[in-house]
Amino acid sequence: MEFKNSEILYKKGCENLVGAVNSPVRAFASVGGNPLFIDKAKGAYIKDVDGNKYIDLVLSYGPMILGHRNKKVEKAVTRALKKGYSFGASTNAEIKLAKIVCDAFPGMDKVRFVNSGTEAVLSAIRLARAHTGFDKIVKFSGCYHGHMDAMLVAAGSGLATLSLPGSKGVPSQAVENTLISEYNNLESVKAHLDKYNDVAAVILEPVTGNMGVVQPSDDFIKGLRKLTKERGVLLICDEVMTGFRSQFGGAQELVGIQADITCLGKVIGGGFPVGAYGASNKIMENVAPLGGMYQAGTLSGNPIAMAAGIATLTELEKQNPYKKFDLVAEKIEEFLLSSAKKYGVDLTVNRFGSMINPFFASNEIKNFADAQKSDTKKFAKFFWAMIENGVFLPPSQFEAWFLSSSLTIRELKKLEKAIDASMQVVGSL
Ligand SMILES: *Cc1c(COP(=O)(O)O)cnc(C)c1O
Repeated sequence: MEFKNSEILYKKGCENLVGAVNSPVRAFASVGGNPLFIDKAKGAYIKDVDGNKYIDLVLSYGPMILGHRNKKVEKAVTRALKKGYSFGASTNAEIKLAKIVCDAFPGMDKVRFVNSGTEAVLSAIRLARAHTGFDKIVKFSGCYHGHMDAMLVAAGSGLATLSLPGSKGVPSQAVENTLISEYNNLESVKAHLDKYNDVAAVILEPVTGNMGVVQPSDDFIKGLRKLTKERGVLLICDEVMTGFRSQFGGAQELVGIQADITCLGKVIGGGFPVGAYGASNKIMENVAPLGGMYQAGTLSGNPIAMAAGIATLTELEKQNPYKKFDLVAEKIEEFLLSSAKKYGVDLTVNRFGSMINPFFASNEIKNFADAQKSDTKKFAKFFWAMIENGVFLPPSQFEAWFLSSSLTIRELKKLEKAIDASMQVVGSL
């Protein structure tokens, strides 16, 4: 396989872009080599600038849940484009998308659209502080909530991949109100809430994707909901990754809880920049123009992005691919485990709906510390072998593989072969 054009673009890109990427997760820091440059994509496949074609399990880190360039979405976006790109005034499309979102999440009466997951979370945290009058936030190590200052502590995949404990440039005052707990460990939350009576919220990924896929135990997630309610602390579910992906009503629906504030992103924009946060009327009435919490955006609710969101969610609800996702993920898990066994490779597979994660580790993975025991060198070998076998994966051990509804038996057969060949490479190390 040749990567000549990608190499040329990488060198060129390094001149005026930082590391030739606009998000560090796209760099190949932990797998070595140069990042691939993409030309185009359609359905389950993505093509690089050298004409190599891959089954795409990155899917823009989640948004492309219907596969690339779904016909209905493409039509809706084209139609919206012809009416104008941005107005600085409200449109009917915002009302339509808001209705779809609020109907899907029973805890949401009102929603505010923003332009990214990061914006959704930073606004949700401001809202929790405005509503309670308290400043402290409990977060879990290994959970990623975007790149706002206060959340850049113990923050999962992107940072884990680069082995950065936090980030330079974040003032210590910005994180002094952030308390860290351990995922799947209710006592570690209780300890903070016993010690401090000025906690505004606990924020978590209700199923994680950013330390790899980790599910909450039933006791942990239900206990957390009960505990926060008892203590008058808001529970923020960051469903930027899992919203509309785990289930139409998000991971909350599957784990059986209801958040006080929910953050959305990724799938909700169908590949365009959309984020959202929402809650009950009582909580959302704090937000300007109804209340005194200020949050704004020139391009928020952009009509093209709204059109893509409406079309994506409408099609997703119609296709209802969630059972199929489970079956496909189960198959992929089987391929991974049987080939790992065949070639004597230690492997633990975690999955939840359309997110799946093989960890090159023999231990069970229940939190960030468990995930970090994985052999990232083996992952790097596996990653490149999968590329050579025509499968595009996120270039990090700690990042979930994403499934789209455009995968068919044909791609599953290819995946089985690619996994077997790649595992053999790892086994021969
Ligand atoms: C991706 C992600 C974010 C950040 O969203 P951006 O659109 O990249 O700013 C926040 N939280 C979670 C759980 C995510 O997966």
